[in-house]
Amino acid sequence: MAQAGIHGLVSMAVRKLTPKKEWLMLGIVLGNMLPDMDALAVAYATLSGLDTHGLHRTFSHSIVVIFGFALVFYLISALLKRPRIGNLGVGLGIGMTMHALLDLIIWFRGVELFWPFYGEVNFWGGYTPPAWWYNKFEMAAEFLFIALFFLFLASLARKEKTNGDFLKTLRNWTWVQFSFFLIFLVLVYIWDGYYIPFGAAYIFSLSLALGITIRMRKTVEVIA
Ligand SMILES: [Zn+2]
Repeated sequence: MAQAGIHGLVSMAVRKLTPKKEWLMLGIVLGNMLPDMDALAVAYATLSGLDTHGLHRTFSHSIVVIFGFALVFYLISALLKRPRIGNLGVGLGIGMTMHALLDLIIWFRGVELFWPFYGEVNFWGGYTPPAWWYNKFEMAAEFLFIALFFLFLASLARKEKTNGDFLKTLRNWTWVQFSFFLIFLVLVYIWDGYYIPFGAAYIFSLSLALGITIRMRKTVEVIA
């Protein structure tokens, strides 16, 4: 991860370059956020007392896996003769690749870009991020950026007159995300055990962002 909301916002920036094909843009936005759902594997391992090493920013950030993933969608689409499933697969492939590259550039950590064939690619090897940021502010900021992603979707929906029936619900979820941000902004600095409630809130919020993207696909797929 960079923050999931940043990935979401970056994905929306390419929509003007994207050909208008059903579910393609939806796939790109989902694909930009999906790789950090490897947090589920980390959460499972943590709660079961297993080793969490090698679970985050590995298989889900590997272009080998991403290519295989897109290929499976392509085959299903060809088999069922449903082109939009193929569009979705291409979109997911593009989006997940964008995610892995953005992590490489701005996340101050390595990414196993060629997992399982090659170790970590790390542009930040010699750099130590400031203590107030590392595993502290950056964590709380997850919720801030998801809130900003929701605000962006809301403003686009108002402009394009799409998903009008969902905007009230979206506003409530935006407030939930701002509240999580404020709560964790305190917790990360005062309580070493913050990461268990953080993990729960994070997985919930990332799933929420994926769900809302699907719910608002009309807005996401508007080509301005
Ligand atoms: Zn990531």
